[in-house]
Amino acid sequence: MARTLPLPQSVLIVGGGVFGLSTALALSNRHPDSQVTVLEQAQTIPNPHGSSVDSSRIVRADYANAAYAKLAADAIARWRTTDWGKEGRYSENGLVLVYPNGDSTAGQYVRKSYENVKALEADKVEFLPTKADVERVMPGYGVGSDVAGGYVNWGSGWSDAEAGVRFTRELLEKEGKVVFKTGQVERVLFAEDKGQGNGNGKRNQSRATGVRLSDGTTITAGLIVLATGAWTPKLVDLRGKAQSTGQALAYVRITDEEERRLAHMPTLLNFSTGMFIIPPRNNLLKVARHAYGYLNPKRVPVPGPKGDAGATMEVSLPETDVPVPPEGEKACRNALREMLPAFADRPFCQTRICWYTDTPKGDFIISYHPNHPGLFLATGGSGHGYKFLPVLGEKIVDAIEGNLEDGLRELWEWPAFAEGEELVPFEGCEDGSRSGPKGLKLMEELAKGKALL
Ligand SMILES: Cc1cc2nc3c(=O)[nH]c(=O)nc-3n(C[C@H](O)[C@H](O)[C@H](O)COP(=O)(O)OP(=O)(O)OC[C@H]3O[C@@H](n4cnc5c(N)ncnc54)[C@H](O)[C@@H]3O)c2cc1C
Repeated sequence: MARTLPLPQSVLIVGGGVFGLSTALALSNRHPDSQVTVLEQAQTIPNPHGSSVDSSRIVRADYANAAYAKLAADAIARWRTTDWGKEGRYSENGLVLVYPNGDSTAGQYVRKSYENVKALEADKVEFLPTKADVERVMPGYGVGSDVAGGYVNWGSGWSDAEAGVRFTRELLEKEGKVVFKTGQVERVLFAEDKGQGNGNGKRNQSRATGVRLSDGTTITAGLIVLATGAWTPKLVDLRGKAQSTGQALAYVRITDEEERRLAHMPTLLNFSTGMFIIPPRNNLLKVARHAYGYLNPKRVPVPGPKGDAGATMEVSLPETDVPVPPEGEKACRNALREMLPAFADRPFCQTRICWYTDTPKGDFIISYHPNHPGLFLATGGSGHGYKFLPVLGEKIVDAIEGNLEDGLRELWEWPAFAEGEELVPFEGCEDGSRSGPKGLKLMEELAKGKALL
């Protein structure tokens, strides 16, 4: 049942990516008199190391889960018909999802996703029961050796993700209600709370009151929203609930003529390998892998009110400015060989590890912390959060106010575990769309040196 929780006068949003900026936008629209601050550790928004920033992100309603399909369809309507999608921020080129031979999780995901998008926009979707059918809609592309079939959705597209984040920041700057600050949060600050908590009836909890930055200064606020993406597991104990995984991206430089030729091809996402290719922009063709990814274990103090008591924990955290390890580079090279053989021997001009904040089932975490009133989390993007940029903040503010619709609240609420179970790390995100090896460690893979490509 709807219960509107009062919004504190001051709100501090930590993180200037999709989750943080969309929250700021929705808060400033709905609560113009509140004092909203966005704090970002990078010198610039868009942050080139943030997960929200890249040459392209797929925008699709193609989900096996109907709630995400519906929300993505709402987002696509805005990408298509409003300023969100203008000036090249959104292109609707179609998406081909393919599955391998054999009865696999990928095959089931593709079939459920097909049913969901067919129910939303039947005229844009075509099932492709054989490999030859897939090849028919992808002239000029190889589609992969193990492909059994798939479907095409001409109503899906992609977004220039750096431009999308810049546009959101500019919207906020034009409105002029949100204050931007630069600084790195070292820890959340707490005080004993004798009040009503988050309205959950729990008393005597530790209330989040502010943050301490790495330069020693503090910022206090009535509500702290952590939208810190893959860095969040350092600020809140999320063991068993979220872990950061590095994903492989590689870029090939192409000519204007080559870009023109590929510009209108549908995006191809091969669920048997996780490899995908989105049409190029700015003479860069990107090959990427949506997989279980690399872990990067680090030992850090256990955060929380007793965080300085000396206890430590091991969590996976982002490493930026490292290349893709040989194993990942080889996978990108093989994908080029299979999908775009004309580029098979073109050198990669750049590779990058980009960080997912994975949860066990790929659901976001958009929830108050159950034990700390005043602390709200908006994270757990699990490799699919970008597309929701035009609508996500409104849902996050619904959740802050305690009014999030049931279907989404159940997906995004604080994950419940049996006693003691939450400390068990999960092996990989099982959202039905992942492939590749599990448990790869980034530094071990990098130490293997340059692959023979
Ligand atoms: C390789 C890759 C491919 C993807 N493909 C798609 C796709 O095709 N379609 C799609 O919809 N989604 C995709 N996603 C997922 C999507 O991009 C993410 O879910 C989304 O961008 C996450 O946004 P965020 O705000 O949580 O994280 P971020 O954009 O990383 O923002 C978090 C911000 O918090 C800041 N921060 C962290 N810690 C601190 C601190 N202590 N103090 C101050 N600031 C801090 C960081 O600097 C960062 O800027 C992809 C992601 C990756 C990595």
